[in-house]
Amino acid sequence: MKLKACIVFFIISTFSFAQERITQDMMRRYAEKVQKFLDKEKALSAFYSIDTSGIKIFSSLNSKLTNKPEFFLDWAHLGDYRSELGADAAKAFEVYKTGKYQTQTEYSLPVPKLKIGNVNGSMEHDMPGRKKLQGIKIAIDPGHIANDFESGDLEKKHIKFKQDLVRGLPDSIEIAEGMLTYATAVLLKQKLEAEGAEVMLTRPDGTSAFGKTYKQWKKDNLKKAVDSLFKIGELKPSQKNYFFSAKADDRDIFRVIFRDLDLAKRAELINAYHPDFTIIIHYNVDETNTDWQHPAKRDFNMAFVGGAFMKNDLSSPEKRFEFLRLLITEDLEKSVALSSCVVSSFEKTLEVQTAGEQDATYISEGCLSTGKKGVYCRNLQLTRYIHTPLVYGETLYQDNIKESQLLNKESDKTKNVRVQQVAEAYFQGVLNYLTIK
Ligand SMILES: [Zn+2]
Repeated sequence: MKLKACIVFFIISTFSFAQERITQDMMRRYAEKVQKFLDKEKALSAFYSIDTSGIKIFSSLNSKLTNKPEFFLDWAHLGDYRSELGADAAKAFEVYKTGKYQTQTEYSLPVPKLKIGNVNGSMEHDMPGRKKLQGIKIAIDPGHIANDFESGDLEKKHIKFKQDLVRGLPDSIEIAEGMLTYATAVLLKQKLEAEGAEVMLTRPDGTSAFGKTYKQWKKDNLKKAVDSLFKIGELKPSQKNYFFSAKADDRDIFRVIFRDLDLAKRAELINAYHPDFTIIIHYNVDETNTDWQHPAKRDFNMAFVGGAFMKNDLSSPEKRFEFLRLLITEDLEKSVALSSCVVSSFEKTLEVQTAGEQDATYISEGCLSTGKKGVYCRNLQLTRYIHTPLVYGETLYQDNIKESQLLNKESDKTKNVRVQQVAEAYFQGVLNYLTIK
């Protein structure tokens, strides 16, 4: 009997010792991840705690001080909740709102799989005769909506330079970013599909993610949108009156009402599609080039992933849920791996430098470095609300003197050589990501 009791004691104490080590390991890893990827200003400690019991999310400092978490996830259930997040994030958000994750499954000690800064999206596709991207689902979001210069002007994504022989510009230039992103998306879709991937674009040519032009959306949806934004306190009474009046300027409607709703719709479409990963396509400009009246000299590539929440970025349960999702899933690590492959490919294919931390103020002031060259955590609407690994690509500066002339060629931008190179750069980056062992 004595020996038996000793053995039982030995087993129990070994088990609790192992359990304690795993808990300590997870506490350290998640605390490290918050610091490295999620908390830009080191100002979010009021909203979360990571201790021996698990992870708690708080709605305010007061709720933390009184230990009344908005959501509590104990270590034993972390693996199960992470799986639910991967399968259906909308359902996981409903669970979040109940305050606690409860499951019928047996107690099991989760083994931490999280590897900060060292996770790749390795997938093997080496069966003979099999296309490289067979079975892979990819969402592509071509940034902005313009398919003409008038709508480019409306969304302020329009570059117009007069002929300027002194600065070395022999012809005038006119570019709308939405036309470049859409053409890039179409070319990239063709390449990915040729390798067997299933691909979805978030918008048809010239329209928003609502499947209609801005003008049509305004006619059909503006009143309803203003009403619901007013109801949830996003618009003041004076703003509501302005947007209902005939004086309301299209640029204001676009900027204040339409743009965020269009982005929310893009995230909704992508999440409903359940892709393996998402590619968001943008072309950049030089932030120091005042009003983009003249061509400039600088030219860089970069990519964004989620994270880098600022102190006012956890103001709603939705935002705090996304913070938790990015913390406990591996979406962020996979996004970094994908983006790193894509950015390397940008540099190689386009022969344009990768941006360092000091090359733009929105990087140094609004981003966290991921440790991978040219890949930065940035809390954008899409990097926050898309529930898949993603790359938010910002290739080359459209207002660069050389790039502007290259991009100005061809009215059908799918025939533009520079746009074709950008599509190829994304494609090669994706292939590299999927073949990393
Ligand atoms: Zn853009």
